[in-house]
Parts: sequence; structure tokens; C-alpha cells
Amino acid sequence: MASSPEHAAALDAADLLAHFRDRFVGAESDLVYFDGNSLGRPLRVTPERMVDFLQEEWGRGLIRSWDEGWYDAPLTLGDRIGVATLGAASGQTVVGDSTSVLLYKLLRAAVDRQVSLDPRRREIVVDHDNFPTDRYLVEGIAAERGLEVRWVSAPRDAGVGVDVLGEAVGEQTAVVLASHVAYQSGHLADAEAITALAHEHGALMVLDLCHSVGVVPLQLDRWGVDLAVGCTYKYLNGGPGSPAFGYVKRRLQGDLVQPLQGWMGHAAPFEMAPGYLPAEGMRRFLTGTPPIVAMQPIADMLDLIEEAGIDALREKSVALTSYAIELADELLSPYDVTVATPRDAASRGSHVLLCHPRMQEAVAGLWQRDVIPDFRNPDGLRVGLSPLSTSFAEVHRGIEAVASVLA
Ligand SMILES: *Cc1c(COP(=O)(O)O)cnc(C)c1O
Repeated sequence: MASSPEHAAALDAADLLAHFRDRFVGAESDLVYFDGNSLGRPLRVTPERMVDFLQEEWGRGLIRSWDEGWYDAPLTLGDRIGVATLGAASGQTVVGDSTSVLLYKLLRAAVDRQVSLDPRRREIVVDHDNFPTDRYLVEGIAAERGLEVRWVSAPRDAGVGVDVLGEAVGEQTAVVLASHVAYQSGHLADAEAITALAHEHGALMVLDLCHSVGVVPLQLDRWGVDLAVGCTYKYLNGGPGSPAFGYVKRRLQGDLVQPLQGWMGHAAPFEMAPGYLPAEGMRRFLTGTPPIVAMQPIADMLDLIEEAGIDALREKSVALTSYAIELADELLSPYDVTVATPRDAASRGSHVLLCHPRMQEAVAGLWQRDVIPDFRNPDGLRVGLSPLSTSFAEVHRGIEAVASVLA
């Protein structure tokens, strides 16, 4: 039976990535962590990196370190993220700001470019189930630019696909914004297909990768995605508030003017010249002094992803979500819990949404027992499964705990 602890132990014993779990702070405790999709665990090597950074680059190097790497860090770290996780050739990824701020900058630049090429493109397409910040930003930009929001709705476990978008996207569309993995249902969109659809109608595709980067293999260049943003504190384990990354397809970069014109995005910041002149390439998407301290931990997780291999990671992620669904069917369906995540693994990211009318209370009870999922309005418990730091035994203990609090 899937629900026996022996079965979980056998899955862990057969898991070639199991040993990576020891590389994370806190892995030795019995706590069940189902929120690596919201805030990844820190790596054990990261404290050493931080102390070293503080003593050497900052403490000894002081301001000289700007010339020795910090000034280029948004681009060099961006390139590393691009190559390790995005399927992006270098020169197309930048690191800085929060996801919300960077999404604003890229989305508005994309919208402005589209409207200037064809003023009849007056709509931004976004779905009702997208993450709040994405929806609010679209509303704000539409208001700022006198455009319309074209809302689309997708069934919770079906997500945004060509069928749903096909009815909304047309020659009036400036930009389509979609999350690659839906933050609630965990639905994984077919990024290549929806990008092709947007392009067929002359629209630009902006993808939010917050819940897919570092856990789903990405091929932004090959898929033809125009712009993308994502978090580094979820599956890239950068720590609370670590900066976002942004991707802009190379041949669009020169066409885009982002709205927050600060000195760090200037072609020659240290000339302190009158008048703004955007830098070439990805530097133009910067605004102010980059968050160098907060960038440090990200490199450790990129090392680990490269060591494990993103395809192996995806395989384990699918095994974990499949196992969580199997356990939910067996242990939680008697309590009328439903699984709101696609059952087809190819349409699923790395978290599973379990729904029950009393889930909010249940999550509070679980936190008291050191089982840490999160609650998503109105009735969802999210089981986030970070493949390098989550064991099958942990999934087993966690889902059993959900059953016992509901009982
Ligand atoms: C986590 C998340 C964000 C977070 O944005 P911040 O600016 O970092 O708070 C944005 N979009 C999606 C889809 C997310 O999952």
C-alpha cells in the first residue's frame, strides 16, 4: 500500500538524489517542510559563503569590490541563472529588484513597445487565477496607459492553455501575461504553445516563472518566450527577499524602454551626465544599486542544481507529487479532501493543492505539530515539494498528519 511507512522508506532508498537532502540546514529535524515552493531551505554551505563575503569582498575589498565584480553581478549572476535553469544564452538575464518591481518594469516596457508599433493593440491578457501581484500590476499598467485588461478564466485544475487564451488573444492584444506554473493549482502551462499562440497574433508573451524556475526544465530561447521574470527565494533557495531575475529575448532588448530610469541603467552611470540614455543590453533594465548581499546565496543552489542535473530533479519532483497525490487519494479522500492539481504529471509543477472546506483550521493545527504546508484562500492546502530537500518519508508523515488533524 502506498500509505505504509515501509513504502516511503523504499522510495527513499531507491532515490538517487536522496543524499542531497543533507546539504540543507534543518534537514536533520523531524519537521515536515511543504513550503520550499514559497521559501526554500538554506544550504549548509551558505553561512560560510556569507561570512567569507562579509570579511573579504565587503570587509577587505570595500568599495573596490564594485570594480572587482559587484558592478557586473546583476549580469553575471543573471547569465548563470540563464544557463543553469532557463535555457537562455548569456546576455539575456538580469538580477535585481523584487519580482513585482521587475515584472512592472518589463511588462510596461513590453506594452509600450507594442502600442507604439500598433496603437490598435489596446489589451493586456491575464487570467483571474494568476498570482495577485501579476493581476494588480496588469491593472495598474492598463490604467496608467489607458488600455484594457482582457481577463480569462480557466478551470482551477486545467490552467491557462491554448484553448482558454485562444478565445481572448487577437490583433487587439498587446501582451499576454501568464504564470508558467499556477501558484494555486500547480498547473504547468505549455509555454511553447501559448507563446506560439501569442506570436501568431503579433502579441508578446511575458511568462512568470516563480514556481517553475529551478524545478521544471526551461527552454526560454527555444520556446521563443519574449520576456520572463521569476523569484530566487523559492526553488533557487536565495533566502527571504532575495532579488528576482528578468529575461528579455536578445532581439527585443534594444526596442524596450523600461519606466524606472535610474542611474544604474544608464549607458554611462559614472559620467553623471544630464539626461537619461539607456545602456545597451540587459543593463538597461537596472534602476539603482543592486542588492549584492542578497545575491550571494543563490550561487550555492545553482551549483547544487548543476550537480544533480535539472532533468533528474524534474524526475524526482514528478515522483514526489505523484506520491503525494496517491497518498491523498488513499488517506484524505475519506475526509472529502479533493486534489485540485492536474493528475497528468506533464501538466503539473512541483506542488499539489488539496482542498477541503475546513482547510484553514487544519493548516493551523498542522503548524502546531511542526508540519508546515501553507494555506491558500479559500480552501486549499499547498504541498510544495522541493526535490533536493524533501524526502518521501517526509511526504508520508505530512499527509498522514493532514489526515489526523482532519479526523
Ligand atoms: C512568489 C510569487 C511572486 C512574488 O513576487 P515578489 O515581488 O517577490 O513578492 C510573484 N509572482 C508569482 C507567480 C509568485 O509565485
